[in-house]
Amino acid sequence: MPRKNPKLWYSTHKEEVLKYQKEYQEKNKEKIRETKRRWREENKAELKKKKHQYYLENKEKISNQKKEWVKANKERKKETDRKWREQKLRENPRYFTDKKREWIKKNPEKHSIHLRVQKYKRRAAGCRNNEKGRMSKIFSDLVLEKLREQEYSCLYCGTDIKTTYTIDHIVPISKGGKNEIENIDLVCSHCNSLKGVKSKEEFLLLSLDT
Ligand SMILES: [Zn+2]
Repeated sequence: MPRKNPKLWYSTHKEEVLKYQKEYQEKNKEKIRETKRRWREENKAELKKKKHQYYLENKEKISNQKKEWVKANKERKKETDRKWREQKLRENPRYFTDKKREWIKKNPEKHSIHLRVQKYKRRAAGCRNNEKGRMSKIFSDLVLEKLREQEYSCLYCGTDIKTTYTIDHIVPISKGGKNEIENIDLVCSHCNSLKGVKSKEEFLLLSLDT
């Protein structure tokens, strides 16, 4: 049957067309799926480019969506992470050890701070006001800031202490000093052992005498 006006024909046969389409799709499910798959395969590079383009244009949105998802699916995220770690370890039992070593090599300054903070925290564990957990990150940031302020040199003798500094209490803990950044100097281990349990004031007076 020749259709003189397809648009008009379609408007009067809408139901019929939809029904036919649905039947066709149902009957040719596999064929359609295969065609779609082939099309994706043939346009792989183009699709990848488009996807990347979309990512670049919506970076923030995507990052926020991910964060929201993680927030709403904490348990699932934990489980996926656990499985991922297990898989990595199966592939290479030294995976995380190697990664850690790599990171330390790239971030010697941060690693040194981490070690020192660990040591400091162990020392401070006896202190009443020590808040464990959150303290580590905040304190290490403060130490890094102080280290920069001191231009990476010992406060007493000026030796370079970028990776070898020790934490010294201006007023020793034994004399009522607190485990707080305000009560801390970063010094070399030599000066630290010379100062011992003297306060900064006592130590400076003593070094003026000699
Ligand atoms: Zn020194």
